[in-house]
Amino acid sequence: MTEPTTSPRNVLVTGGNRGIGAAIAQAFLDADDNVAITSRDGSGPEGAIAIAADVTDSASVDAAFGEAEEKLGGPVEIVVANAGITKDTLLMRMTDEEFDQVLDTNLAGAFRCARRASKGMLKLKRGRLIFISSVVGLYGAPGQANYASSKAGLVGLARSITRELGKRNITANVVAPGFIDTDMTRSLPEAQQQQYLAAVPAGRFAQPDEVAEVVRFIASPEAGYISGAVIPVDGGLGMGH
Ligand code: NDP
Repeated sequence: MTEPTTSPRNVLVTGGNRGIGAAIAQAFLDADDNVAITSRDGSGPEGAIAIAADVTDSASVDAAFGEAEEKLGGPVEIVVANAGITKDTLLMRMTDEEFDQVLDTNLAGAFRCARRASKGMLKLKRGRLIFISSVVGLYGAPGQANYASSKAGLVGLARSITRELGKRNITANVVAPGFIDTDMTRSLPEAQQQQYLAAVPAGRFAQPDEVAEVVRFIASPEAGYISGAVIPVDGGLGMGH
């Protein structure tokens, strides 16, 4: 049984100004949904309402949702918590700040958005929370103790929300990309990129829109019975993890 479609839907994508977030925002725009995106400098793709917000700041997140609700004309029904950073270094060299900043952005940032969004979703009596994690969350990676911890934490977050709000017609899922061609991965040393490439069964990296299409499906009426799931988009890299 699929839910009745109410189109267009109000969507908010964090970190929607570039990379995977911009592709996700574009996928919803292409489906004629109303889309708001956040980034720290307030820029965004054409057609989307661009809002400046820092996900490490609760007041900033709350204000961004307030602005989005006002400009979209109602509560946000679909939230994609995509904003994320890396600060890679080996465990013994990792500072408290490098660990905390990554957790604060990637995990606590997603929590802040989900907490704020849940109010509107409860009023609407429906909602979709989608957390952009990483294959590394369950697979692990040397030099990424902070990043992998933050991405694994999103699984616990989504599954707890699923148990808490499942009966309210709200789903919470994790999308776990592998290696996607964006600013984040282009900044890696060439040798490391080649090492990742050799490990991917698909033998290639993915484009951001390949993640975006999966997110769009998870937000679709047809995916109403999927919740608490971890959906890989990784060319087979993380199989079984
Ligand atoms: P990019 O580095 O290209 O973009 C990161 C986005 O996050 C930007 O929009 C950035 O906005 C935003 N952001 C970072 N910090 C904050 C903050 N404090 N407050 C608000 N926004 C912030 O990354 P990708 O597109 O590659 O990655 C997007 C997501 O996908 C991330 O969560 C990443 O961990 C995940 N991912 C990426 C993979 C890849 O291979 N690229 C693989 C697996 C997961 P701003 O302009 O403000 O900096």
